[in-house]
Amino acid sequence: MMISPKILIPIFSLLCIVFANNENLSEYDGLKVIRVLPVNHFQMISLLNIEDDIDFWRRPDQINRFADLMITPNNSQRVMQYLSSRNIGYEILIDNVRAIVQNERNQMAKIRKQLEMLRGSDITVGFWQSYQRYEAIENLMNDLQDKYPNLVHKINFGKSFEGRELNLMRIGANSNEKKPVIFIEGGIHAREWISTAFVTHFANRLLIGYENHEEDIKTLMETFDFYIVPLLNPDGYEYTHTKYRLWRKTRSTQKSSSCFGVDPNRNFGYEWGGEGTSSNPCSEIYPGTKAFSEPEVKAETDYIMNNLAGRALVYVAVHSYGQYLLYPWGWTDKPTPDNDRLDSMAKLATEEMAKRYSSKYIYGMSTKVLYAAAGAGDDWAYGSASIPYSYTLELRDEGYYGFQLPPEQIIPTSEEAGDGLIAMLLAIQKNDL
Ligand SMILES: [Zn+2]
Repeated sequence: MMISPKILIPIFSLLCIVFANNENLSEYDGLKVIRVLPVNHFQMISLLNIEDDIDFWRRPDQINRFADLMITPNNSQRVMQYLSSRNIGYEILIDNVRAIVQNERNQMAKIRKQLEMLRGSDITVGFWQSYQRYEAIENLMNDLQDKYPNLVHKINFGKSFEGRELNLMRIGANSNEKKPVIFIEGGIHAREWISTAFVTHFANRLLIGYENHEEDIKTLMETFDFYIVPLLNPDGYEYTHTKYRLWRKTRSTQKSSSCFGVDPNRNFGYEWGGEGTSSNPCSEIYPGTKAFSEPEVKAETDYIMNNLAGRALVYVAVHSYGQYLLYPWGWTDKPTPDNDRLDSMAKLATEEMAKRYSSKYIYGMSTKVLYAAAGAGDDWAYGSASIPYSYTLELRDEGYYGFQLPPEQIIPTSEEAGDGLIAMLLAIQKNDL
C-alpha cells in the first residue's frame, strides 16, 4: 500500500517526539531515591560522613527528620550495607527516577504543543504552565520591559562560565537610587526548576497587580525597587534541560579534576569552605578552589556591592525542595543579633503561605532547622553585604516529586510563596521604614 506524503509527515514528526523523549534516558536507569531517618547522633554523623560522594536531594538536617538521597546501580549495594550496619531505617521514595524524568518530558512536550497554538504575541500566556528554557526567560524579560517600560528595566550584570548573559530585572514604580531594595535570587541550583518559575511569576504578579491598582502591590512597588535574578546558573540549568536532569552545580571546568562544576551556594565568600562543604571536586557540595571562583557568584555579589550597598534591605535566595524559610546563620549554630526580627518575619510569611493551599513551610535559623552549610548566599548577604533581612526559601514539595515538581504545581507554588513574600515585605515596610 502506498502511504501518501500527507500521512507520512505526521507519522515522522510523531517518531521524532518519541526519539527526542528517549534521548539519554538510559543514564537514569536504576536510579532510586531513598528516604532515611536518623534517630540518634551516631546515625546522623554517619549520614553526614557520606555526604561527600552521595547525592543528597534533601540533606540530613536533624535527628528524627528525614533525609533523601539518590542511589545508583554502582553504589546501591554499598549504601544499603552502610545503612543497615548502622541500623538506619529507610524507605524507597522514588523507585524509578527514569520514569519520573520520562513523564516530565512527555508532559512538557504536550503542554508546549498546546501553547504554541494559544500564545500569539503575548509571551506570558501559558508561561507558567511549564518550565521554560534560558532563551524563553530572556525573552520574557525583554517582553516585560517592552510592555511596562516605566516599571521594568532589564540589566546585564555579567556572563556565565560558558558565556551566557546574566541578566536581572529591576522592577518598581518611579525607580531611583534612594529606594530600599528587595533582591531576589532564582535558579542558582540547576535542577531546582521551580525556583526560576516562581521568581518570574512573582515579577509578573507585581506588574499585573500594579496595573490593576491592587493596594498592597502598589504600596510595595512605590516603596521598594525589586532586583530579580531569574536564573543565576544558566549553564547548569540548560544542562538539566539537554543532558542530565539532576545536575546541581555550575558547569565550570576544574584544574585538579575531570569532574565539572562547583556548588555555587557554597561559593560565597563568607566563612567559605567551612562545615557542610567538601574538598572533593566531584562532590555535590564542592565549594570551589576559593570564594567567588564562579563567575556567576562573583558577578552577582559584585553587582550588589557596587550598586546596592546600603540600600538592599531584603535578600531572598529561592531554592527547592523541602518547604522551608530559613535565615542566618548557616555556618554556625550561634544566632545573629537580629534573630528575633528575622524569626518573626519568617513566622508571618510561612503563616501566610499556608493560607491558600494549606502547605506547611517550616521556618527558623538555618542551623537550627538544617545542618551547617558554609559559604551560602544568605550568610554572605547578611554578614558581608549587611542586608538586614536575609532568607533562603525552599519551595515545594516535601519529597514526593523532589526536584521534578510537576508543571501543574508551578502556579499554586508560586501563588502561596508570593503570598508569604508580599505579607513579609508589607510588614517590613510598616515596621522599618
Ligand atoms: Zn538549592
